[in-house]
Amino acid sequence: MTHSEPPTAGRYDVAVVGGAIVGSSVAYFVKRLAPAASVVVIEPDPTYEFASTLRASGGARRQFSCPENIAMSNFSIPFIAQADETLAVDGMPAHVEWRAGGYLFIVGASDLPVLRGNLEVQQAHGVDAQWLDTDALHARFPSMNVDGIAAGVLTPDDGWCDPNGLLQGLRRKARSLGAEYVADRVVDIDRDNKVVRAVRLASSRALHADHVVNAAGAWAKGIAAMVGMPLPIEPLRRFEHYFETPNAIEPLPYVKDMARLAFRPEGKGYSGGLVDSSEVRGFNFDVDHDYFERVVWPALAERFPAFEACRVKRTWSGLYEQNELDGNPVIGNWAGRLDNFHVVAGFSGHGMMHAPAAGRAIAERIVHGRYETIDLARLGYQRIAEHAPYAERGIL
Ligand SMILES: Cc1cc2nc3c(=O)[nH]c(=O)nc-3n(C[C@H](O)[C@H](O)[C@H](O)COP(=O)(O)OP(=O)(O)OC[C@H]3O[C@@H](n4cnc5c(N)ncnc54)[C@H](O)[C@@H]3O)c2cc1C
Repeated sequence: MTHSEPPTAGRYDVAVVGGAIVGSSVAYFVKRLAPAASVVVIEPDPTYEFASTLRASGGARRQFSCPENIAMSNFSIPFIAQADETLAVDGMPAHVEWRAGGYLFIVGASDLPVLRGNLEVQQAHGVDAQWLDTDALHARFPSMNVDGIAAGVLTPDDGWCDPNGLLQGLRRKARSLGAEYVADRVVDIDRDNKVVRAVRLASSRALHADHVVNAAGAWAKGIAAMVGMPLPIEPLRRFEHYFETPNAIEPLPYVKDMARLAFRPEGKGYSGGLVDSSEVRGFNFDVDHDYFERVVWPALAERFPAFEACRVKRTWSGLYEQNELDGNPVIGNWAGRLDNFHVVAGFSGHGMMHAPAAGRAIAERIVHGRYETIDLARLGYQRIAEHAPYAERGIL
């Protein structure tokens, strides 16, 4: 970043498109790293009705295979755990409701090598990741049916939080540091050869910016198209369910299996779902009220017979911002083509947990011109341009 003069009307150092959890994290970290920088966040809906953030299940884990994802979790999870204090404003804490309930991945025999390989990468990155064979699984989680399960990995320091609490905390703190939120919609972006100059708003205002950040989640492809940047990020609907059982079950971590069944304790019951990757892409928020009974419940009851008696109390839909190339986020600029247009989107189901690290990463690129903490070069746009996938192995 070259200058941080006092902002003049309609001119900013940084304009962030999309003000949910990722955009607010970018704004917060830019203000932390460069307090004098002028930052505007453009968010059309301050209620975040359709934002993925408000529909997320809140899980945050270190169980990945790509070192970049593990490193992002290693920063983000302690950040989330301490966010009530870190994001306090005038002594008023944030309310992220962090629960260090742990994460448990369980696999069948054919996936053992992947689970083992991933565990080694995680441990090499300092993660407390524990191998549990079927006996250990049964001893620890007696209500689990371990038929067909060969082993599991437990990461006890992982957990979950309230995504809206984290969003509101980041937003409020970013504003207290001087970031401005504008309730408007970006409808076009002015560019001048290799440089982005301004964002145009639905209200017909233009905001000039030295850096523009695309943090529009499932809408990021449309924002990138405004500058001629192809981005393979599509909206993928998935359902989340809150359900209860009258049967007693020992305290469970966030449980995930190869079939994409994933659930965790929530209040008196559980919150979770089962992602259907073949779902037709699009901005569809319709709820299929039979989905739980048809798809989720059989998988749940097979693994935990206590859920044979189970009542689904609520089902809602939300969008993954799915990176169709490889399921990993796109973080960075279009080097050599549009140096001051930064993308931070395509988290494909992991954007809540990685928002702190990704926001800091973009802030470092803007403020220092390079990554200072975690090198996320492999998650950059180059791989999209070259059609060279860099994917996770194993459980998504
Ligand atoms: C059911 C479900 C469960 C999930 N569970 C988890 C989980 O356990 N853990 C996890 O880490 N992640 C989870 N996710 C994924 C997570 O919710 C997303 O990755 C994350 O919220 C992305 O945040 P975001 O700020 O990029 O996008 P969003 O929250 O979608 O925000 C994008 C914002 O961009 C704004 N916008 C759109 N168009 C424009 C425009 N033209 N101009 C300006 N602004 C615009 C929108 O209004 C919106 O507020 C889940 C998602 C779903 C749907």
